[in-house]
Amino acid sequence: MSANLFDILVSRIADPAALAIETLDGQRISYADLVARAGRMANALAGLGVKPGDRVAAQVEKSVEAIILYLGTVRAGAIFLPLNTGYTATEIDYFVGDATPAVFVCDPSRQDDLQAVADRAGARLVTLDAAGKGSLTDAVAAEGEIFATVPREADDLAALLYTSGTTGRSKGAMLTHGNLVSNTLALIEAWRYSASDVLIHALPIFHTHGLFVATNVTLFSGASMVFLPKFDVDRIFELMPRATVLMGVPTFYVRLLQDDMLTAENTSKMRLFVSGSAPLLAETHREWEARTGHAILERYGMTETNMNASNPYEGDRVAGTVGMPLPGVEIIVTDPDSGAELPRGEIGMVEVRGPNVFKGYWQMPEKTAAELRENGFFITGDLGKIDEHGYLHIVGRGKDLIITGGYNVYPIEIEAEIDELPGVNESAVIGLPHRDFGEGVTAVVVAQKGADLSEADVLAPLEARLAKFKLPKRVMFVEELPRNTMGKVQKNMLRDRFADLYR
Ligand code: ATP
Ligand code: MG
Repeated sequence: MSANLFDILVSRIADPAALAIETLDGQRISYADLVARAGRMANALAGLGVKPGDRVAAQVEKSVEAIILYLGTVRAGAIFLPLNTGYTATEIDYFVGDATPAVFVCDPSRQDDLQAVADRAGARLVTLDAAGKGSLTDAVAAEGEIFATVPREADDLAALLYTSGTTGRSKGAMLTHGNLVSNTLALIEAWRYSASDVLIHALPIFHTHGLFVATNVTLFSGASMVFLPKFDVDRIFELMPRATVLMGVPTFYVRLLQDDMLTAENTSKMRLFVSGSAPLLAETHREWEARTGHAILERYGMTETNMNASNPYEGDRVAGTVGMPLPGVEIIVTDPDSGAELPRGEIGMVEVRGPNVFKGYWQMPEKTAAELRENGFFITGDLGKIDEHGYLHIVGRGKDLIITGGYNVYPIEIEAEIDELPGVNESAVIGLPHRDFGEGVTAVVVAQKGADLSEADVLAPLEARLAKFKLPKRVMFVEELPRNTMGKVQKNMLRDRFADLYR
């Protein structure tokens, strides 16, 4: 057996007739179906000219067929490149131009827009819609299911995933078969995943969370998942009585908490709630536990490394922390300037080493060299500390650290204080260019509906709680914080919007 992720997946199928994926419109796909359909897909891709090592890019809605496209691509020895469905033609032009895929799959509604993009990159354009129909599906229908899976080494690429672009232009992370398989197995062990699990899959599948964490962990366990086209509170409550696991971004949990259906009784059949991709507020964690009796399990990962750390399955799931390193993964905290490892409790740069760490950024050798150390540690760009119990706390992004008058200010500390204030819904604290201080600490606040909140109402109570240099110089009120599809607050947009506040 080769190290191809698909070969390893097939070797783990104990019951080919078992259900792998079901959809709300009544599709029920067994493991045998998955393998057969991935064979047809691999044949179709080969027919479209895809060779081992080629990229297959896809900007498509979530569907079973899209998962088959992922599996068929990997089976054909090619490299799967999913793209956010929200990207415009201009953005796609960059990604497709950068990755030069052999085939680019798009929604039929966008074909006219994207044909020129595909042509410029030298890619064959085929279509696939949300119902799983399109020219790709037509090509697949004509193919047989027998396909000899292309052998791959653990070090060969399986996927090229662009980062979310929260801190700047998205970078293509080169992920190997070994990266994906090792991380899947580590998560299965850490989360006690088994064939009897039923996952409510409500995440997009163009991101590492929905594609690798959710999908790979389920399929490699022989478990099943119910595919929701998108996050849907009512559907999730309908499914909970017969599901065991939900994986979500923090906004899922915030929104489920707003519904009266969220009770201990309605979640009593569930085994596990996982949160990640953005920080889960400690308050959300506590409210969830009070309402349901379940402690949300928060984990930490990123496109470049898959998952790095997780709160324990057995043992304390500590609110506001992301837990301990996964099996096989090392995490250290270093001085951002010298790179020297820091003692426990000190805040510094989070670095990660292990079989999960990617091979580098696609066509960015300098960036790769700057962030991937020779000793194998990847410099994540996140700041954090490891506490005396070994739990990792993420305190924010290095790029969001505020340096004001020579002092370091960690936004999360101030955001936590502001979020506790009456009338505040949520907040984001940013640094803005300031003539005297270098950067001025600035709070951007979303007030609760109907709350009449002034700048002074926010600032006055903080004075007793925070050192003077940490106090926001101004409070700006906004209707909502800019967030991307994974629920990440886009602080760079806020910094741009208020750039001239102190000038
Ligand atoms: P870009 O690298 O393009 O700026 P991005 O870092 O947001 O975008 P992703 O790879 O999707 O792209 O996100 C990884 C980041 O998400 C991590 O580096 C971390 O900052 C954040 N993150 C993920 N899980 C958690 C968590 N549980 N708590 C806090 N932050 C998290
Ligand atoms: Mg990143």
